[in-house]
Amino acid sequence: MHHECQECTRLWSEYALATRHHLKLQGRLRMADLSRDQAVIDELTPLVRTAFEQCAEIRGMIDRHENQAQAGSAGA
Ligand SMILES: [Zn+2]
Repeated sequence: MHHECQECTRLWSEYALATRHHLKLQGRLRMADLSRDQAVIDELTPLVRTAFEQCAEIRGMIDRHENQAQAGSAGA
């Protein structure tokens, strides 16, 4: 991400949002874990997993996009 690119900017801000969301859910899960609140643990566990997968998915999109950008400029 060393270039002015709207797609990079968009992807990175989505990634930042997803990461923040994941950390927030993870923090709530840890609190529930500390207070042994099983109902909340059961509710949050799949949400944390989904949020983590979302982060990984966006990270993959960033990697693919950057590879494409590099391939595109290789001949220049
Ligand atoms: Zn880009």
